[in-house]
Amino acid sequence: MSSAVMSNYARVALSFERGEGPYLFDADGRRYLDFGCGIGVTGLGHAHPDVVAALNAQAAKLWHVSNIYEIEPQARLAERLVAHSFADAVFFCNSGGEAVEACLKLARIYHDKSGHAERYRVITFDNAFHGRTLASIAAGGQEKHLKGFAPVMDGFDHVPFGDLAAAEAAVTDRTAAILVEPVQGEGGIHAADAAFLKGLRALADRAGVLLIYDEVQCGMGRTGKLFAHEWAGAAPDAMAIAKALGNGFPIGACLARQAVAEALTPGSHGSTFGGNPLATAVGNAVLDVVLADGFLDHVQQIGALLRERVAALAGNGNVFDSVRGVGLMLGLQCVAPNLELMTALRNQGLLTVVAEGNSLRLLPPLIIDERHVDEACAALEAACASIG
Ligand SMILES: *Cc1c(COP(=O)(O)O)cnc(C)c1O
Repeated sequence: MSSAVMSNYARVALSFERGEGPYLFDADGRRYLDFGCGIGVTGLGHAHPDVVAALNAQAAKLWHVSNIYEIEPQARLAERLVAHSFADAVFFCNSGGEAVEACLKLARIYHDKSGHAERYRVITFDNAFHGRTLASIAAGGQEKHLKGFAPVMDGFDHVPFGDLAAAEAAVTDRTAAILVEPVQGEGGIHAADAAFLKGLRALADRAGVLLIYDEVQCGMGRTGKLFAHEWAGAAPDAMAIAKALGNGFPIGACLARQAVAEALTPGSHGSTFGGNPLATAVGNAVLDVVLADGFLDHVQQIGALLRERVAALAGNGNVFDSVRGVGLMLGLQCVAPNLELMTALRNQGLLTVVAEGNSLRLLPPLIIDERHVDEACAALEAACASIG
């Protein structure tokens, strides 16, 4: 790779020329089944015809205008996200980190406007990942992301994931919000159970703090519901989404209830590119597909099948010994080094992503069918045999 690109990624010496549905093709025409999806981004697979058509149609008309003007596809995408969620209003940005940042700023200004500027602290959870901005690495609290970037931004209190009592004990009269991923992604695919999210909801209500979900990875149909927290039936006050919202076109969004959203007034926050015509035209095309009749049912069914088939391969547990997750967001608990399994799978033509705690993520496109499950499981079986 060019040394003119900064070396902040550990890259694999492989590059792709094109993609089609769940497959990627390298320059030699070798085909890979993409169960990583650019880390949960290309949820509809590559070159989805409806999304390509929407992008091309918008590209021929208008790419960008400032948010000082009305933007029709942005307004439409916001209305549709509102119609299908807990939220009353949406702020658009360009990435997950920015969406989290918007939620954090919203929590501060909400309390500031309520006469409680002293409420600025946010409770977050061990093993969390919220992005790479200065605020979001502080929120994530992971040593490996913070190292070298001192001083750590103040205002985050970390407690164990799933520990309701610890969260309750951490709330003070300075707490503004609780921020949690309903399913931890980078942390190794750990789903919060329904009781935990419901408990956080009740705690937030009692303490007068906001509950914020980071659904950047687990949202947009990945778990078989449009948003992962729907499984628990515990709605947040604000939520960050991004990754799959644009199927690869950069877009993020912060969704919020009216009482919270209205804390933002003209000039209080902004983004040059956020919600521009091109990005939001693509977002609308993605929503068309995800909200179509039967689509999320399909994700649930194919997710259950994949999980069952993968679990059956845990076998003697030499390579991986269990599988967890929701819908098409699955984590294999590796026994062998996760990097070794990821490499062996790549050699078998299956692309996956590692995660914390020696786990391996399967984040296939939501459009896969049984043939792709067969193909992935054959690759997994062969990879395990080659290691095991
Ligand atoms: C990827 C991710 C982010 C950061 O998104 P970027 O687009 O890389 O800024 C934040 N939160 C979660 C849960 C993520 O998976």
